[in-house]
Amino acid sequence: MIDPHVHCRDGKQTYKETIRHVFEIANKQCVEKIFDMPNTNPPILYEKDIKERLKLVPENQKGNYFLYIGATSNKKQLEEAVRCYDKYKEIVGIKLYAGKSIGNLALINEKAQKKFYQILSNLGYKGVLAVHCEKEIYLKPELFDPAIPITHSYARPKEAEIESLKDQIKFSEESNFKGNLHIVHVSCPESIKLIDKERKEMRITCGVTPHHILWSNEMLNRPDGLLYKMNPPLRDEKDVETLRQYLKDGRIDWIETDHAPHAIGEKLFTPFLSGYPSLYLKDFVSKFLPDIGVDKKLIEKLTFENIYKIFENKLK
Ligand SMILES: [Zn+2]
Repeated sequence: MIDPHVHCRDGKQTYKETIRHVFEIANKQCVEKIFDMPNTNPPILYEKDIKERLKLVPENQKGNYFLYIGATSNKKQLEEAVRCYDKYKEIVGIKLYAGKSIGNLALINEKAQKKFYQILSNLGYKGVLAVHCEKEIYLKPELFDPAIPITHSYARPKEAEIESLKDQIKFSEESNFKGNLHIVHVSCPESIKLIDKERKEMRITCGVTPHHILWSNEMLNRPDGLLYKMNPPLRDEKDVETLRQYLKDGRIDWIETDHAPHAIGEKLFTPFLSGYPSLYLKDFVSKFLPDIGVDKKLIEKLTFENIYKIFENKLK
């Protein structure tokens, strides 16, 4: 299997997770290749960051480690990002945080995002643009009360994801973006509907995490509920049911774990970080998915074939 969305941390966050350790657990989970995300500390934005990052890859895993380069609205940085995409086989695409999640790597306002798409289109970029969709003006951080963890899902409502997704589609169309727009960790059925509507018009794909398929936000009501705090948050029972159905219907392109470990104290106490160590694909794929009626052929597509198709130029 390929896991096209992990956070290996390393650098100043080595105490949370490392590339070496992710490969150890990935291999036990039958995952061969991983795509790392650039919201590290320091973030991956320039060629020098890529070079440093690649030094951390264990010798026996070269060829299995891939990563996204981060995006800013700075023209020079984006030129370098596109150049690195062309130059390094390991760079699978550009990642845009259209809302702040973990780290400071984000382009939160519409004007900056619009400019970003325009620059990328002018540069003739045709690779994958992976976007974390959560629109800041719809977030209500004041609603989060750590004593009642489920308030996290009210603080980051699904409207934030849906409205951000609409923005990405609009900016992508307006700028005549020729790349593949990939919406990461889709958390609600409304997003899938919007994406399906665009599939004929543009190159667009979406991924879902195991946790958004497995659990509703009821998990946040458990005594250890803070552990289930992630961005975007877990949604209600009805949304989970519908997401499962859409997965079975083949309306989701792939599974991406969004494996994002923190130290347990950072989750249970201030700053109550979002993220879940979710690289447990083996049981999810061999037991849970067949149990809810996803057939073997579709599982192969969700964990390998569909991913391979989009990233073939990098993976072959
Ligand atoms: Zn992520």
